[in-house]
Amino acid sequence: MRAIPYRVPLRSTMNSALGAMSQSEYGLVRLETDDGLEGLGEISLIWHGDGASLCDLVNEVVGPAVVGFDLFDYSRIMAAVHASLKFGRHSLTAAAAVDMAVLDAQGKYLGQPVMNLLGGAAADRILLTMSLSIASPEEAVAEAHRYRESGFRVVKVKAGRDHDRTVATVKALNAEFGSDLGVRVDLNMACVTAKEALGTIRRLEEFGVLSVEQPLAPDDLAGLAFLRQHTVLPIMVDESVWGPVDAREVILAGAADIINIYVAESGGIRPAKLIADLAELNHIGVAIGSMPETGVGTAAAAHLGFSMPKLEHPSDVAGVLYHADDVVVSNLVFDGGYIYPPTAPGLGVAIDEEKLSAFAIRR
Ligand SMILES: [Mg+2]
Repeated sequence: MRAIPYRVPLRSTMNSALGAMSQSEYGLVRLETDDGLEGLGEISLIWHGDGASLCDLVNEVVGPAVVGFDLFDYSRIMAAVHASLKFGRHSLTAAAAVDMAVLDAQGKYLGQPVMNLLGGAAADRILLTMSLSIASPEEAVAEAHRYRESGFRVVKVKAGRDHDRTVATVKALNAEFGSDLGVRVDLNMACVTAKEALGTIRRLEEFGVLSVEQPLAPDDLAGLAFLRQHTVLPIMVDESVWGPVDAREVILAGAADIINIYVAESGGIRPAKLIADLAELNHIGVAIGSMPETGVGTAAAAHLGFSMPKLEHPSDVAGVLYHADDVVVSNLVFDGGYIYPPTAPGLGVAIDEEKLSAFAIRR
């Protein structure tokens, strides 16, 4: 197993509460088996600077720990991975890449798409969301028009600390598109107190937004539970939930109507599916979030999404669409604001060696 850090450009600069991003810096994990199969995984992490160091971790520690296992010893492989990783949430994204690579190789061996190893497709298509960069209401409407014209039916308004601008943007989108465009709002932890958040959320109620994402800090579960009880709008958590343990805490605290699930943050496709199963058992909704991923990570999110028992909320299974280029060729099918089930064996992506060589980060 080896990991290669790479950097690919985004189509345009994305402004969010996390800052301005113009490229993604991730790692590609290549797993080789004795009979010549290759499995691919992606280390996607939005926080810059960690992608490369996580590749070192895979090359020096995680890779050697999994040599010699049978490809179908998934549980033992992942136990060895977690035992070898240093403590810290960011290393979950390296574990996720191993999970993807193992499942990809298993699918190729069996001639089956990864979703068929997870129960098969539970849906015919997944409704997508595209995120609008933080901008003036007029610029947001113009960007939303571009998405609507290319078929998308739901956009996500990324909010900063300026609540008046967030409300004005949602109002402008509502006036322009009405029910022809679904609108989600992602506050990305922009509010300090639950009362501050409630003031903004109440102003959004009349526009019928589909969900209000992460208004408060990740650990303010009491505040999130308060909000959930004081607004009709669904409260979604994102930063509050990385892995299944976080999901359990959120569910026990009554802190969310919807959990936004990431393959990378969960530690892989299988732990992400566990979150979806936990949510369904507790009548909590789920969506899939995005870093945004490039080809391998987007495919992993797609296989996860189709295998989920109930993915009713529009999801960000479209990371590749934000990127101007990629290190792999993927045959994901996007049409009319939806993504359709992948049919090729494994994750259904193949390395483009020339692009990988061009985009690899050399240190
Ligand atoms: Mg979010």
